[in-house]
Amino acid sequence: MFTETRTTCPYCGVGCGVVATPDGHGGAAIHGDAAHPANAGRLCSKGTALGETLGNHGRLLYPEIGGQRATWDAALDAVADGFRRAVDQHGPDSVALYVSGQLLTEDYYAANKLAKCVLGTANIDSNSRLCMASAVAAHRRSFGEDLVPGVYEDLELADLVVLVGSNLAWCHPVLHQRLLAARAARPAMRIVVVDPRWTATCEGADQHVPLWPGTDVALFRGLARHVGGDGPLLEEAAAACQIDPAALRAFYDAWRDTPRVVTVFSQGVNQSAQGTDKANAIINCHVLTGRVGLPGAGPFSITGQPNAMGGREVGALSNTLAVHMDWDRPGDVQRLAQFWGTDRIPARPGLKAVDLVRAAGEGRIKALWVIGTNPAVSLPEAARAREALARCELLVVSECVPSDTADLAHIRLPALAWGEKDGTVTNSERVISRQRRFLPPPGEARPDWQAVAGVAARLGWATAFAWQSARDIFREHAQLSGYDNHGARVFDISGLAHVDYDAMMPTRWPYPAAGAGPERLAVPERRLVPIIPRATAQPATEAFPMLLMTGRVRDQWHTMTRTGRTPRLFQHWPEPTVAIHPDDAPADGSLLRITGTHGTAVLRVRHDSGQRPGTMFAPMHWTARFCAAARVNDAVGAAVDPISGQPDLKHAPVRIEPFAAAWYGFLISRHEPPDDLATWSARIPLGQGVISAWRTEMAGMDNPADAAARIEAWGAGPGAWLRLTDPATGVCRVARVDSGRLEQVMFLAPTHDLPARDWLAGLILQDALTIADRRSLLAGRPATGPAPEPSVCVCHGVGAMTIAAAVADGCGSVDAVGARTKAGTGCGSCRPEIARILAQSLAQLLVPA
Ligand code: SF4
Repeated sequence: MFTETRTTCPYCGVGCGVVATPDGHGGAAIHGDAAHPANAGRLCSKGTALGETLGNHGRLLYPEIGGQRATWDAALDAVADGFRRAVDQHGPDSVALYVSGQLLTEDYYAANKLAKCVLGTANIDSNSRLCMASAVAAHRRSFGEDLVPGVYEDLELADLVVLVGSNLAWCHPVLHQRLLAARAARPAMRIVVVDPRWTATCEGADQHVPLWPGTDVALFRGLARHVGGDGPLLEEAAAACQIDPAALRAFYDAWRDTPRVVTVFSQGVNQSAQGTDKANAIINCHVLTGRVGLPGAGPFSITGQPNAMGGREVGALSNTLAVHMDWDRPGDVQRLAQFWGTDRIPARPGLKAVDLVRAAGEGRIKALWVIGTNPAVSLPEAARAREALARCELLVVSECVPSDTADLAHIRLPALAWGEKDGTVTNSERVISRQRRFLPPPGEARPDWQAVAGVAARLGWATAFAWQSARDIFREHAQLSGYDNHGARVFDISGLAHVDYDAMMPTRWPYPAAGAGPERLAVPERRLVPIIPRATAQPATEAFPMLLMTGRVRDQWHTMTRTGRTPRLFQHWPEPTVAIHPDDAPADGSLLRITGTHGTAVLRVRHDSGQRPGTMFAPMHWTARFCAAARVNDAVGAAVDPISGQPDLKHAPVRIEPFAAAWYGFLISRHEPPDDLATWSARIPLGQGVISAWRTEMAGMDNPADAAARIEAWGAGPGAWLRLTDPATGVCRVARVDSGRLEQVMFLAPTHDLPARDWLAGLILQDALTIADRRSLLAGRPATGPAPEPSVCVCHGVGAMTIAAAVADGCGSVDAVGARTKAGTGCGSCRPEIARILAQSLAQLLVPA
């Protein structure tokens, strides 16, 4: 009997509570924590599959120097020596740390203290710079401090919820489910989605406002004029945003006439060269109408990462000091120096992420420590970022698993992963929750804070970093938040300094020594921020006429270091694809080369009529591990917001051209093939729970016969070979069956028009083929009965055709489809797509025969 452990999901900023029950063999059963205020027991598809991502396979287990196993002492000595040497020879700003919203608050605190207290540099930035830095800057301009006034319950209490640049259904699924449940209980509630593209979130909305990418400032300036009664900016805004004026007026009127309105904004707003202005344009409308921090009313920034908020709280960004102390607040530098007992607090802010890596490329950063993030893939102009990282004299990477960034490191430090580490995280509604350990540390992996403290000790700061546990760090962090505060900073959790850390329940800040603060923040300062519209930083040009937006898909997370460990999460979106309007692209399913100002990516075309002509959307998850050519940030330019430093990841000018392959194909195999079998290849894990086989999509420029021979040679082994080749059509299909078991099957053709893969992918997971299956193998589909289809609902393995058949059979609602097929009755993440299939199927049924 193993004990249940209450912890928190390691993915998005909703911050759902999770109950983990270890199985004693390195795994754990996972379910939602009914007592957690964020999710009340719900989990999305990613959270539900957490148990399948556990295990030590593929982990970094030992420190390495130059690719050779080393002791922790030797590795930490080398890190400390490298950083000391750089500071001594080139000054404190020749060193830097680049950290992550995946870190726990305690790890974040330790890293920030190492940079600003010990090394004397503000060159510590977080990948949260890519996620919500514009929201932070906007909060500080509007409220004087980085404050999120509202709570999730406000989305349920509002009469109008406006989602701006937020595909809530896929990126914050449990919060989206809460919203839809509230609307189901109170049908008068309205939901509006403001987004250049039609997303899954639009399925449940009452209105979609499809503005042209990057025109949010015009939209919300127009709204401010409308609600302020300052005269008509409507026509101007409609023209700028390329929206039907009547539809825009309907949105403006609804917003003005609905006192209980929450405007949610997320990466679609923040990831922009005008991100701060966009966020302030939204907040201005709320400030103008007094709709801030009220039940069911307020602006609401939703963070992407599980602990982006914790990083903001400790100050682990290059332009913040610590605990909401800042360089531009009188006395804060001295205050922090006094608390930490240092005279090394840097006099000015440091380099933000894009500038920091650019400085590395220019040789100005000599020693860089990357902790828990993958800038070699996630930064814009990612190929240049890889070159820049490789230029550092010392690159240290703390990671759980190999990554594109860790591959470049001189020193690799094995970090604890989710389930092994202990600390706190803060979600988007300011709730601090414990992430608790429920698995033993693998190999010699350690918590990141311990590695940081080890380096600090070697640099002469052993006493200041003499923490024995995460609890000690949390206590120091809480004490610092209340230090000489006297109400000057709303972020004050000094009342938690002596809380029972092990038993700590989810707790919302502020929590000063006097006790819990109010749920919603009164927000003492509310400024109207003047917004002057600026020209876009990256305009489309004749050479780069299309606009590329990057983002996330439903079942993957960041660079797949965790979600890539479970085949289930590949079922919904197996390949790196680019969504593009049918008028803009070659055939659906073909390959497209996307070229930006500094790099290219090649992705599979997915026709999407919800994409505005001239624009495209591509997920940012794929790395060298699964498809090196699909690292889409290679094609994204590195323009940033001048205030927040956040990159313009939603507005990259690119050009496109068909990828001129001589052949296309796929290989389904029990063993993972190497990269060099084809010019372009994308690997997709297969299996039940764990990875037990691979599907590899391929395309090549060379002679198809040579390619077939090469792939066949790689798969050489015992057993019977089945072949079907047709020189006239160029089709080549080959399978190897050994002891009745399918070992591999390859289909090659001169076009991308190949059979569906799902049936063959199922056969490779079986212990033996039936005679009928063996006969049909090279046909690519079963001789009788329907072929299996890709899953829409990954919890129950239900596909679109099954859902459509249920609708044709009389199921007229998502719930009715669920009752018939079970689709949508697991985690619920697929319900918006079921709604789409339902609507399409019903529309088809109504077309007269
Ligand atoms: Fe995790 Fe999903 Fe909850 Fe986000 S919505 S915290 S990914 S379970």
